[in-house]
Amino acid sequence: MSTPDRRRPAPLGWTRPSGPLSEAPRVSVAIPLYNEADVLPNLISRLRAVLDDLPGGPHEMVFVDDRSSDGTLQALERAAAEDPRITVVSLSRNFGHQAALSASLDHVTGDVTVLMDGDLQDPPEAIPSFVERYREGYDVVYARRLRRKESVWLRLSYFVFYRLLARMSALPLPVDAGDFSLISRRVVDVLRAAPERHRYLRGLRTWAGYRQIGIDVERSARAAGESKYSLPKLLRLAFDGLFSFTIVPLRAAGVIGAGVVVLSGAYAMYVLYARLVLSQVPEGFTTLILAITFLSGVILFFLGVIGEYVGRIYEEVKSRPVYIVDRVIREERRGP
Ligand code: UDP
Ligand code: MG
Repeated sequence: MSTPDRRRPAPLGWTRPSGPLSEAPRVSVAIPLYNEADVLPNLISRLRAVLDDLPGGPHEMVFVDDRSSDGTLQALERAAAEDPRITVVSLSRNFGHQAALSASLDHVTGDVTVLMDGDLQDPPEAIPSFVERYREGYDVVYARRLRRKESVWLRLSYFVFYRLLARMSALPLPVDAGDFSLISRRVVDVLRAAPERHRYLRGLRTWAGYRQIGIDVERSARAAGESKYSLPKLLRLAFDGLFSFTIVPLRAAGVIGAGVVVLSGAYAMYVLYARLVLSQVPEGFTTLILAITFLSGVILFFLGVIGEYVGRIYEEVKSRPVYIVDRVIREERRGP
């Protein structure tokens, strides 16, 4: 199975008519899944109920199996055999949430696409209100998380991270907004054409521009199973967001360096004065050790920061595909 070329230019020909749309759009729902067999039956039945009542269509559901080991793929295959609206994309190995989500975007065919998690933390029942705002003329409708049902320290980390990133980035990144959103066909095209390997899709979505709006959606607790984001995976996502959308950490080294030069200049003058005028010889072994270890720490820290950017440049240059498809299961008559 070939993987689409991410370096192709954005197809810029498609423009949506301005103002409200009279026609109901065809909705694609894109969902990455990793070991979600416990949630899947519930997810599919709630989704089908929502799509059945949605005007327009035929709508579709695109599930990407991120190489689950708990029978998620088999359950998806059975569901796809029953419902022609279901497309299943299975990946060659576990590529991670953002890569799986990118894979789903490469397989949607609708006028609009709803990105959501497969653990029912994002309620499918919010989709009609997304579509409503789309028809009013918005290209991106994202969910603002009203309340989270996660542990205190995780909530605090999210709170701090989103605000920190929003301050540092030149983009108006919305705080407390995840991937749960509806995006129009042309925003899908922009995301598909973005060549980067370290994908922070909620940031890229903002970067795409057009008219965007957030609506409040309550974020439920996970329906079943455990979070598939281990701490390292979560940190990686946070770093991807940080290093892809701001270079403030690089600049910080310059600012701190300039500050240290000024301070040490002032201190040098004082030492000169003490020696020549007051005839004092400054002592201070402890101070010396502290200054050396502190500044070495600062230097190593910023070497690490530079290393993060360099490592990312290296990975971008390698240009490996973001994900590899094993197979695609979809009803044939709809074509590719
Ligand atoms: N997921 C995935 N690949 C992974 C990890 C997660 O496709 O390697 C999917 C997972 O099945 C779910 C979504 O990404 O549909 C969000 O993951 P999760 O709910 O575990 O993250 P959290 O809500 O805890 O941040
Ligand atoms: Mg979740």
